[in-house]
Amino acid sequence: MPKNGKKDGKKGAKSREASSSRNGGDYPRHSVSPGEKMVLAAVDADQSEHYTRKKDVEEELEVQRQRIQDLQARQYAENKQGLLIVLQAMDTGGKDGTIKHVFSGVNPQGCRVSSFKAPNPEEANHDFLWRYHKSVPARGRIGIFNRSHYEDVLVVRVKNLVPEEVWRARYGLINDFEYNLTRGGIAVIKFYLHISKDEQKRRLESRLADPDKRWKFSTNDIKERAFWDDYQVAFEDAINNTSTEYAPWYVVPANKKWYRNLVVARTIANTLEAMDPKFPPAEPGLEKISIPD
Ligand code: ATP
Ligand code: MG
Repeated sequence: MPKNGKKDGKKGAKSREASSSRNGGDYPRHSVSPGEKMVLAAVDADQSEHYTRKKDVEEELEVQRQRIQDLQARQYAENKQGLLIVLQAMDTGGKDGTIKHVFSGVNPQGCRVSSFKAPNPEEANHDFLWRYHKSVPARGRIGIFNRSHYEDVLVVRVKNLVPEEVWRARYGLINDFEYNLTRGGIAVIKFYLHISKDEQKRRLESRLADPDKRWKFSTNDIKERAFWDDYQVAFEDAINNTSTEYAPWYVVPANKKWYRNLVVARTIANTLEAMDPKFPPAEPGLEKISIPD
């Protein structure tokens, strides 16, 4: 049983490493190693390497977007490997903004976003993975989960929606699920967009103050904010129990939106590059063909 990634995922990790050095080297990768005890409170949500302003990263972000677009075109044409990208965060953590900024320019034909809210009655009558499995990307495609199967060890734990033995057993079930996907040709990477409690307050205040953002404000977000510490514990446990060689977690400092976008884009581009998708060979003899009038 895969519990914490001791399976045969070494190749993926190594080739990810190699591609990161091809791409300018040893920047902080923010990945959580299998078996590591990541402490969320020790991760500075404000950090941004040597960059200080949005302007400093604009060019590089564009380079990374272009890499994603080029690699996705190959992945789509090759039609052999899929990529599932999981996005999790506290409320206002920036899942929507990340999708908007990192995937602008990606061919919509090869990419789908699935957003998960509280399960409807039909979903609730199935095993917890059912609705997620139905939405995973096919080979040749990218799937983005805006919230995901991790809600079933996060909100479900914090709100006591099932007994502890039920949610605790899900770490292993999630690892098995993700292992199954990777064996079936679907790579899996997971991002936790890490904002501080102060930053959430600022973002909620700005949603309240700006008429164009007010539609995003939900009084439920204030109720959830009261459980901040419980959520931090739940996230930390979930990430530490499910960051595997075959499906790694990245804890992304996300107080600065522009830095968050850069880290996510870089990581996706490197992952796609390590998958090494190739255009299928052309039919033989095409050079002799001329198109009739
Ligand atoms: P937005 O950025 O627009 O607020 P959102 O993802 O926060 O997007 P909401 O409708 O505000 O969307 O919230 C969805 C809610 O569904 C969250 O509170 C989340 O915890 C809850 N949810 C998601 N999955 C589950 C689940 N499996 N069980 C219970 N609640 C869930
Ligand atoms: Mg919300």
